[in-house]
Parts: sequence; C-alpha cells; structure tokens
Amino acid sequence: MLETPVICSRCLYDTTISGIRFDENGVCNFCAIHDEMEKLYPLNEQRKAQLDGLIDKIKRGGQGKPYDCIVGVSGGRDSTYTLYTAVKRGLRPLAVHFDNGWNSEIAVSNIKNAIKKYNIDLVTVVADWEEFKDLQLSFLKASVSDAEIPTDVAIHAVLHDVAAREGIKYILSGHSFRTEGIVPKDWTYMDGRYLNSVHKRFGHTRITTFPNVTLSSLFYYSLIRGIRVIPILNYFSYDKKKAGKELETEVGWVDYGGHHHESVYTKFFQSYLLPLKFGIDKRKLALSARVRSGQTSRDEALEEIRKEPYPYEMSTVEYTISKLGLTQTEFDAIMNAPIKTFRDYPTYYPLMRAFRWPLTLGFRLGLVPRILYYKYIA
Ligand SMILES: [Zn+2]
Repeated sequence: MLETPVICSRCLYDTTISGIRFDENGVCNFCAIHDEMEKLYPLNEQRKAQLDGLIDKIKRGGQGKPYDCIVGVSGGRDSTYTLYTAVKRGLRPLAVHFDNGWNSEIAVSNIKNAIKKYNIDLVTVVADWEEFKDLQLSFLKASVSDAEIPTDVAIHAVLHDVAAREGIKYILSGHSFRTEGIVPKDWTYMDGRYLNSVHKRFGHTRITTFPNVTLSSLFYYSLIRGIRVIPILNYFSYDKKKAGKELETEVGWVDYGGHHHESVYTKFFQSYLLPLKFGIDKRKLALSARVRSGQTSRDEALEEIRKEPYPYEMSTVEYTISKLGLTQTEFDAIMNAPIKTFRDYPTYYPLMRAFRWPLTLGFRLGLVPRILYYKYIA
C-alpha cells in the first residue's frame, strides 16, 4: 500500500520530492533555502539603495557602448517584465531570444510588441532543427524528467555568447525565488556534461552548432570576461499577477494561459509528460513560492493544487509527436519506459560534490550564483 505523503507545514512540498527533510516544526529544507534567499534579498530600504547602486554600476559599465545589459526574452511574463524593468530604470538592454522551433504565436507577438514599444534591438539565435530535435529526442529516450534541458542550456550559452561578443558585462535574469520557487534537483537538473552523455547514448545526429555550457566556458565567462548574471526581480516584491496586468497595459502583452506555455513543447512537457509519466505537478513550485513569500495563504494554495493540473490538449500531444517525427508506438514506449534520473548518466554532479569547498569559496566571493549554490552544493 502506498503511504500518504507528508506535507511541509509551511509550503506544499511533500515526501514525493526526494531529498526533502523537515525540521522539528515540520518545515522543509526548501523553505529554509527560501529564508536564506530572503535574507540575501530583503525587501527593505537598504535593498532599495542596493538596487539603485547596482543600476548605476550597470549604467557606468555600459558607458560609450550601444548597450549596458542583456535580457533574454521568451515572450513570457517574467522575461518581458525583466525587459520592462530594465527600460523603466533607464538601462539600455539588448534583447536576446533563442528560437528552438517551438514558439507559440502569442510568444512571438509578445516579443515583437515589447521591443517595438521601447525600440530595443533584438538578437535571435535560431537552433539547427535537426540537431535540436535529436537532443530533445535523446532526453525523452533517456527517460528523465529533464526533457527541457536542451532549451535551458542553450539559453544560458547564447546569453553569455552574445554578452562576450558585444562586450556587455551584465545579464539580467527573469528568475525570482519568490514566485518560481526552488526546483528540486531530482525534478530538474542541468549541466553540459549531462547533455553530452545523454546525447552520446541516445542521439543519432552529429552536434556541431548547438550552444552547450561546459565547465571551461563557465570559467571563461565568469572569471576571464567578468560577466555577471543579475536576478533583478529578486530585488523587489515581484508579483506575477500584478506584473501581467502592468504588461498588458504597458506593452500589449498577452497571457498565454498556463505557466511557461509560451512554447508548445513546454506546454506538452508541463501538462502531459511531467504529470502523466513522472507524477510531477510543477504548480507545486510556484504555489509554494507564493505561500513562502506571503503572496497567498497555504489553505488557498492547497485548494488550488487539488484542482485539475494544467489541462492538456490532445492536439498539443499530437503536434509534439509529429514534429519530433515519432510514431505512436515509439511515443508509447517513451511514456512507458522505466523512470530514470540524472544520477543514471555521467554529469558534473560528482565533480561539484568533490569540489564543494572551493565552490563554497566561489559562492562567498560572488562568483557562483546563490541559487545554484543552494541547489547543488550546500
Ligand atoms: Zn516547505
């Protein structure tokens, strides 16, 4: 008989998440990470002054250059709001978009509207479809929940590549721990070695153009080129609902429904693959984050989670199967294959564990992003 999962007394994370631990009050370790992040980014006057200082620093760094920062744009709410914030604060961003071939029409028009309104230059990097498809298929066949890794890795690489090429020191990220939550590593894990090892085992196409993230590229961009990623939404009280309304009025932004459904593949991934194959309901992340940051009550969130998860449409699933060139039998085999995790493949993870102490030092010096530190090292 299956045991009923134990739920954290403060958020919605439960014992279906591997690595979860509870303190004597029944509060989970992910809530503790949230509190650490809250200490680093407190919403007070001092933090406001720090943000002002940071904006000045970014402006000074870009003096005499056409741009002072980079914002990655997907057409989604968080990235559009990051772009909007940059403009509002008098920064001169260069927008960068990675087109993996799965953009929804709404996403494309959202990007166009925002850059047109503020007269922002846009660099679009288009994936080589045959290579990208082969990587996506490899991750589906690897039977891991990290099926969005090719996109996430490529975005990271493309933003840094463009920053280095244009001599831009700052990348503004649209990630906010107050609304996105802390993703358990058994739900999403990514690194460049993982990508290569999964592709080597399941792929068929030779990869020559895909922008991967390797350890040497991480060191190069961070230590040699001094490029910094600024999670600017962490510096103020970012509320997704309010932000969406503001963007609708300001830049004619259109809501596309579910969370991160700006891409058809993401829609398939979150509404079908994750819940049906892996039993992962990603709403838990965002809802828990909102509870921890006081944007909603735990009772309201619990009620929300009991409702049907992201509703999926068969048309999305059929479109995905056909675009990836799979037969129904091949797709069924993917859905029914035994579940694996990143621990079943070669990754940088053992190396990161072995180099815990120097990485901790790197974190203290501000070279290792905080959220990565808490997720992989601490
Ligand atoms: Zn918790």
